[in-house]
Amino acid sequence: MAHPGQILKENRLYAGKELGQNFLSDPAAAKMIVDKTGINKDSQVLEIGPGLGALTVHIARITKRLTAVEKDTRLIPLLERVLEDHGLTCVKVVNKDVLKFDFNQAAAGKKLVVIGNLPYNISSQIIFKLIKDRADVAAAFLMFQKELAARIVSKPGGRNYSRLAAVVQYAADVTHITEIGSSCFFPRPDVDSTVLKFDFFKERTFDADQEAVLFNVIKAAFSKRRKSLKNAMVGGEFNYEKSMIAAALVSAGIDPARRAETLTVEEFKALARAVLKQN
Ligand code: SAM
Repeated sequence: MAHPGQILKENRLYAGKELGQNFLSDPAAAKMIVDKTGINKDSQVLEIGPGLGALTVHIARITKRLTAVEKDTRLIPLLERVLEDHGLTCVKVVNKDVLKFDFNQAAAGKKLVVIGNLPYNISSQIIFKLIKDRADVAAAFLMFQKELAARIVSKPGGRNYSRLAAVVQYAADVTHITEIGSSCFFPRPDVDSTVLKFDFFKERTFDADQEAVLFNVIKAAFSKRRKSLKNAMVGGEFNYEKSMIAAALVSAGIDPARRAETLTVEEFKALARAVLKQN
């Protein structure tokens, strides 16, 4: 496959920072990532941000059931040409912002395997969208900035444990797949990357309304992460009352002096149940 720098130059285009365009320029790394997904000819795949097709060609050689959603209109004809040059005519290329894309439409009655070298500026938003739409998703293999990946997999008590980690680990089992060095991209970013696998849990503990309360509780708890829960959660975006939070913490068996960064997902779930009971 031609080097992305060469394709862009020939077409008088540039890589856009605002779209997180760091294209994979190492074909061996691209193939290795797709091989690690374990997809087969029956897999229904959604690729986020195919760009110039570095991952797309390897996915399309394995399965004909591939939808690739790319926001940058300039890249669509280039991507289509790359696919044509490789004799890969079955890919459904959609020119759309993935945050507005209906995953159910791509699923076509089957659960999706989502693959993407993500635009790093909207990685967290894409994760929240995946969690919201996870009824249509079996698993996701996503590449992140190494530092963000470390935050996603971090455990309670760790320096990196965050709202994102708690929400993700509520919805999925997350495993580390591989590291990709910055030299594998064009333009070369300042940071290395990590591919993570998300296996979304089939069973749901909460319905959609209860889940919304859980996510609000997690957000409120981390809103002032250096403060104790009894102070951090009061007021703020959700206007939680002091007496309600105090009672909910006691009812959930959580010491009100603890901080959000020490709570397990199970404890956040207990706290959400207690908040639901208070309302
Ligand atoms: N998959 C290609 C690769 O590995 O070389 C490109 C990866 S590049 C890091 C991210 C890609 O996502 C770019 O092609 C960019 O245009 C696209 N993109 C950025 N924001 C997007 C969005 N909201 N929806 C869909 N695609 C987006």
